[in-house]
Amino acid sequence: MQLNQELEERVIRRTQALTESEHLFRNMMETIPQIAWTNTNNGRFVFYNVRWYDYTGLSEKTNNITGLKTVVHPDDLPKSLTSFSLIRQNGEGGEFQLRLKSADGLYRWHLIRVMPIKNVSGELQLWVGTATDIEELRLLQQQKDDFISIASHELKTPLTSLKAALQLLERMKDSPSLKMLPMINQANKSLLKVNLLVEGLLNTSKLNEGQLSINPKNIVLANVIIDSCQYIRSEGVYTIETKGDMDVEVYADVIRIDQIMINFITNAIKYAPDSKLIKISIEKLNGMVKVSVSDKGAGIPSEKQRFLFDRYYRADNSGSQYTGLGLGLYICAEIVKVHNGEIGVISEQGKGSTFWFTLPVAYRSVA
Ligand code: ADP
Repeated sequence: MQLNQELEERVIRRTQALTESEHLFRNMMETIPQIAWTNTNNGRFVFYNVRWYDYTGLSEKTNNITGLKTVVHPDDLPKSLTSFSLIRQNGEGGEFQLRLKSADGLYRWHLIRVMPIKNVSGELQLWVGTATDIEELRLLQQQKDDFISIASHELKTPLTSLKAALQLLERMKDSPSLKMLPMINQANKSLLKVNLLVEGLLNTSKLNEGQLSINPKNIVLANVIIDSCQYIRSEGVYTIETKGDMDVEVYADVIRIDQIMINFITNAIKYAPDSKLIKISIEKLNGMVKVSVSDKGAGIPSEKQRFLFDRYYRADNSGSQYTGLGLGLYICAEIVKVHNGEIGVISEQGKGSTFWFTLPVAYRSVA
């Protein structure tokens, strides 16, 4: 009788301990930011945390294998089921990726990690699974891959033409003639292009680290503008007309302002090749100076204009016609920002574009 009672009490104590440890375990599963669940050794799902129900919109009633199959992307389902059973077979745990549908119907990539829980004697008790949202990470990786492929392509084009020019010059070197001049010209142009691309990449990485340094001083803005893009002016194909307040001084970094002008002018030539006249105006407005660069090219659709100053944005990404990394205007915007100015565009499709920026007037010339 005594023995029976002791046994009964031991069973009750053990059951209580088990209930408490399970309660603790489930509580832990609710505190983590991921979706989490447990499986028995034969793959049966035992418990899901609240995040699972919140994310999938499934209820306790619909949360069965049929329900599960409706939230895994159909293209990922067969591979996921195979990975899941392979992980259970090897007994060591593992991970794989799949797309899970959220309650609002959108799929997001998740990293599924499944780990075995063993008792003190090393026997498998159950499996614990977690699903971590990696959608953003995958998007960033994709963007990085796309960028590397665009950047390599952009660099390859001028490098190929530089190589071709140098090969021809090499062949001509024993009998120098005037025929070498166009080759030298081509080599220089290609080199300039490579230089601009590398400068753009370097500037962007500096901006990412918040290291864009400027060395401002009082300068006559018109002088910097007229000095900029001399090679384009001397070629004589395009006319760059500068009008307005030719004496106004600003407190700015000459090299950075030149960089903005090169970007605006080369963009006008690149995206409006038939508009041979590029107009630059310099106006003083309420303590600021506004510089505008106008072309009569194809213009930019209004819905795209607000993205032009974003990193890697290209309004015409059909690709083949114009080359570029989509960094130039982003760098211009950052330069203008550190000068406490503003930047913008006015453009109408079929009529042309005016890119503008403002800079504070130099202190001593404020009227
Ligand atoms: P990139 O020229 O390398 O693409 P930018 O940042 O300089 O990069 O320009 C971003 C985008 O803005 C370009 O891809 C182009 O679509 C558009 N754009 C810039 N300037 C002009 C212009 N003058 N006319 C029409 N589109 C332009």
